[in-house]
Amino acid sequence: MDFGLTEDQTALREAVRKLARKEIAPGYLERAKQTAFPWEVHRRVADLGVLGLLAGPDYNPLDEEDFVAAGLAVEELAYADFNVANAVIPVMLMSALINAYGSGRVRRQWLAPLVAGRTYVSFGLTEPGSGSDAAALRTKAVADGEGYLLSGEKTSVTMLTHASAMIVTAQTYREGERLGVSAFLVDLDASGISKSDIPDTGWQTMGRGVVHFDNVRVPADALIGPEGSAFRNVLNGFDFTRPLLALTGIGCAQACIDETAEYVRSRQAFGAPLARFEGVSFPLAEHTTTLEAARLLCYSALWRRTKGIRHTAEAAMSKWYGPLMASQAVKDCLLLHGHYGYAQEFPFEQRLRDVMAVEIADGTAQIQKVVIARERYGKDFLPYQR
Ligand SMILES: Cc1cc2nc3c(=O)[nH]c(=O)nc-3n(C[C@H](O)[C@H](O)[C@H](O)COP(=O)(O)OP(=O)(O)OC[C@H]3O[C@@H](n4cnc5c(N)ncnc54)[C@H](O)[C@@H]3O)c2cc1C
Repeated sequence: MDFGLTEDQTALREAVRKLARKEIAPGYLERAKQTAFPWEVHRRVADLGVLGLLAGPDYNPLDEEDFVAAGLAVEELAYADFNVANAVIPVMLMSALINAYGSGRVRRQWLAPLVAGRTYVSFGLTEPGSGSDAAALRTKAVADGEGYLLSGEKTSVTMLTHASAMIVTAQTYREGERLGVSAFLVDLDASGISKSDIPDTGWQTMGRGVVHFDNVRVPADALIGPEGSAFRNVLNGFDFTRPLLALTGIGCAQACIDETAEYVRSRQAFGAPLARFEGVSFPLAEHTTTLEAARLLCYSALWRRTKGIRHTAEAAMSKWYGPLMASQAVKDCLLLHGHYGYAQEFPFEQRLRDVMAVEIADGTAQIQKVVIARERYGKDFLPYQR
């Protein structure tokens, strides 16, 4: 095993770290309390090539597709601004799907502006009646003439307010026959679409929304991959978004730990700096250890993906363990700041609200455990029989 980084990975990490710590970090708290998406910051990230890392050779600034590099970029961004980092992940997934499965028209229309940070494509899988059990989705695409008619509702769609298009998953029918779940890139200006926002406890700059499709006409070349293939393609993508999401929690938690280590050096109680008390130093040591373990799980999954080694279990392990360890670390750092930690002028309460969301998005802890058990011990360990 080699835990070292390549020259390209080191250079990318340094470039992202410089931008993130010097220019992005100071604005995190102010931005996080607003619902405006910081396009200007997103474009600075795009200028480093980060949004194109998984978008194929025309947009990847590196010579080869490198998921570890994507992880390093996301973790560095999250150290500075959890939300700026998180907004990168759907871009990586959508650009990878469009590049791999999009028609010529879709690739020409969406890839360049998406990776330049000039537009946004959201992703709609979750519905009011189905989340963890994603296969129970009810949105329908019925083949009609030259394309499809789409009807149904998606909810919990990250960045919906700011997006120009979204990849929508739908049960697909042709002449009455059910063909399985397909994915379509749908222009959000199309007639028959209505949207609303979900007021949330964190992630405000990105926001989530509900979108309703009322017989929306979708052209045939909007199909992302063959009819009925969406689950294979999308679930395959979750195997890299899960460790990336976990790394946003880990990056953010690491920033909390570093700031807390500074704080407890100078804050005095009982005639000594807090750092001298084991009740203070041990939680920092413990969180430093669990975060390092979680980080290694993430990079192990991303390294396997780059090498083409099966990594579904490792991705699920990283997504269960990483966000949980991150939330716990952020909460303890808040507590170690005493009453200051609870105040809105410090970043801890905001970070806690932001980071908790990665315990849910892309599948909860329970669902990751279902995946791990199935991967390691077989289908008898699934909670359902289909
Ligand atoms: C911030 C955020 C951003 C999101 N962004 C997107 C997005 O862009 N696009 C999108 O499509 N979705 C998005 N989601 C939705 C997310 O993927 C779902 O919320 C998640 O998969 C869980 O589904 P659910 O909320 O319907 O919960 P449910 O499926 O209703 O589950 C509720 C609870 O029951 C538990 N549970 C369910 N089944 C089992 C089981 N078999 N065994 C044990 N426990 C179980 C779950 O773990 C959970 O605790 C986002 C969610 C959040 C919070």
